[in-house]
Amino acid sequence: MPLLTVSCLSKSFSSSSGASALPVVNGLSFGVEEGELFALLGPSGCGKTTTLRCVAGLETPDRGTVTLAGRTLDADGGPRVPPEKRGVGLVFQDYALFPHLTVAAHVAFGLRHLSRVERRDRVAEVVRLVGLAGLEDRLPHALSGGQQQRVALARAVAPRPRLLLLDEPFSSLDAGLRHETRERVRDLVRSEGMTALLVTHDQQEALAFADRVAVMQGGQIDQVGTPEAVYRTPRTLFVAQFLGRTNLMLAEARGETAETPLGALPLHRPASGTVMVSLRPEALALTASAEGGGREGTVLSRDYWGHDVTYRVRLPGVGLGPIECLVHTDARASFAVGDVVGVRAVEPAVVLERVGVPESGADPTF
Ligand code: ADP
Ligand code: MG
Repeated sequence: MPLLTVSCLSKSFSSSSGASALPVVNGLSFGVEEGELFALLGPSGCGKTTTLRCVAGLETPDRGTVTLAGRTLDADGGPRVPPEKRGVGLVFQDYALFPHLTVAAHVAFGLRHLSRVERRDRVAEVVRLVGLAGLEDRLPHALSGGQQQRVALARAVAPRPRLLLLDEPFSSLDAGLRHETRERVRDLVRSEGMTALLVTHDQQEALAFADRVAVMQGGQIDQVGTPEAVYRTPRTLFVAQFLGRTNLMLAEARGETAETPLGALPLHRPASGTVMVSLRPEALALTASAEGGGREGTVLSRDYWGHDVTYRVRLPGVGLGPIECLVHTDARASFAVGDVVGVRAVEPAVVLERVGVPESGADPTF
């Protein structure tokens, strides 16, 4: 059984005009395993913070249940466990530090149940774990943004919560510090034996941080899976596009293969009829000619990144006129704008689900 189970969670906010509001979180269900780092990933406004606040008990769901370690925290119409009794730690985007409290006082905040000696030892331990030793007596205004973030983290972690809730905790840090802080948080969650639920709009962050990612839009989850699974085999058009650049093409599927603008390609799952397929730029390769299979095209542009290169290649018309595709290769093979090249797929094409359209019958509307 997962450590945290959220099922059929819904929440709407009534507007000041009293108009009936659309749900911000709409029948959301997911589970987080013990020891897991789980990310809720989605664009701004899709309901991530609201979901996290429902788990924390800071928001009352309209419907749905939340259970943590076998204990029901929220149930439809049932009694609710208040935030401070849930055994969860929270790190907010803005850190929410108290200006008049020192680093040590922040970390000691949730440790009032311990004896003075135990509390002192735990504060020293956690301050060291997050790399703030020597700064115990500082006030927030005398700390850098990165240090403030670590105080918020230390405060949340000190009482050893079963579940750590992180709401965009790295977004106000600059790029270098963000990477380092993310690694530190990950090590800390693992070494303290905690489970973490991270909310972020940053694809790279979710993919790099989490063991599993739930991709959200409009208060619902489109797909849950490992970073590799959601990136390489997106289930929907939204997931394909939200997680990075991709080549989208219409194809005629016949079971295991499909006729695509790049020729006949294997599919990652059987399908039939007109489907939309996704091929990531790195699932395509370029050769000096189309003799090794694939289609002939012309290089339109070339972005050189040092470690690799992205090409935009125009393919001649197949039915619908010329198409352009993105090809991401290592920097060893080098082509110039105007070169005629062969483009071929080196991975199966990923069939996207038609959302809201029956699998057979009507024309596909993607
Ligand atoms: P995210 O964290 O994914 O950016 P939120 O959960 O913060 O999204 O918000 C989702 C939507 O709900 C937004 O449109 C936001 O304006 C609205 N919303 C959030 N909290 C409230 C509230 N207390 N009252 C009214 N609307 C809210
Ligand atoms: Mg938010």
